[in-house]
Amino acid sequence: MSFTTLGLSAPILKAVASQGYETPSPIQEKAIPAILAGNDVMAAAQTGTGKTAGFTLPILEILSKGKRAGPNQARTLILTPTRELAAQVGESVALYGKHLNMTSTVVFGGVKINPQMQKLRRGVDVLVATPGRLMDLHSQNAVRFDNLEVLVLDEADRMLDMGFIPQVKRIVRATPAKESRQTLLFSATFTQDILNLSEQWTYQPISVDIEPENVATDSVDQKVYLVSSQQRYQVLNNLLRSEGCTSVIIFANRRDQVRRLHERLCKSGVTAGILSGEIPQAKRTRTLEQFKQGEIKVLVATDVAGRGIHVSGVSHVVNYNLPEDPEDYVHRIGRTGRAGATGTSISFASEDDAFLLPDLEALLGTKLECTHPPKELLI
Ligand code: AMP
Repeated sequence: MSFTTLGLSAPILKAVASQGYETPSPIQEKAIPAILAGNDVMAAAQTGTGKTAGFTLPILEILSKGKRAGPNQARTLILTPTRELAAQVGESVALYGKHLNMTSTVVFGGVKINPQMQKLRRGVDVLVATPGRLMDLHSQNAVRFDNLEVLVLDEADRMLDMGFIPQVKRIVRATPAKESRQTLLFSATFTQDILNLSEQWTYQPISVDIEPENVATDSVDQKVYLVSSQQRYQVLNNLLRSEGCTSVIIFANRRDQVRRLHERLCKSGVTAGILSGEIPQAKRTRTLEQFKQGEIKVLVATDVAGRGIHVSGVSHVVNYNLPEDPEDYVHRIGRTGRAGATGTSISFASEDDAFLLPDLEALLGTKLECTHPPKELLI
């Protein structure tokens, strides 16, 4: 299968080729024709599967055939749970649409609202947004959705976890009826809640790749080390210095843990960045950019901030603590083993959190092998 057989036109194929993509990923193979045919789609999409291109490419194709957006109108709305994800999706839209005469913009909170209002007043073909800021802009009449053609709900499970659903519902109500718009819902996991939302929002959707019994990516080698609370840091520190550990994201459960761990790593000479809700947006964006460029080898993150990390070539994900919500585990380890590469996840389980393992294994549908860390990490 090649991109040319999927029904995309030359300007889009040219942009795809310039990215060096040779063949569509499995989700792209299924989602692109379904979206081009005008269907609603409900897709199980972990990060790293190429899902962003899976919806962006056919949307651009559809939009390129119609009339440009009028003042204050948006033709496509892509809702994402985090600012980082919004920014990255926005970058993809600009990249894949670079040979089309299309307008796109990204809006999220934590930055000035006026420039966003001005852009929206002119109208945009593709609007990528986080729910809170979008609500503000909508209530100030900066943007209208009555001519919306396509609505994308990206990482719907995370929007639910973060409590955004009431806002998302209000936004969805401002768009045309579900029979009159095309709705695409992406989620890493499909719980009953997500299925209910999907039923409310989508019209006769086509399901793509929904395999709840196998939620973790096959491309990740998942290790669980049994450690005492005292050994945790020592094992981490040795791991970071070991061969092949080139680009690492460490997850901890709370902001204060992330902050303390980051301080400790910096003191022991590791170049590490921090991504958590208490860090200002501009700094987070800068840190992520440095991580992408390889200037920073290690990122310490909370689940919420870590959701936006879409960087290829992450060699290891470390769960410094096991996440309390098993679904976060799936999101965390999905930061490595992306786009055909393989990756390793290392989770520390100690007396405080090993009780979380059975629920996690139930979600994964497989047993996780727990071992003691290798000797060289205990020195
Ligand atoms: P995503 O799951 O959308 O975050 O995409 C993961 C990564 O895969 C991104 O860095 C994309 O640039 C890359 N990617 C997307 N589609 C393809 C493809 N067909 N071939 C190779 N890489 C891809």
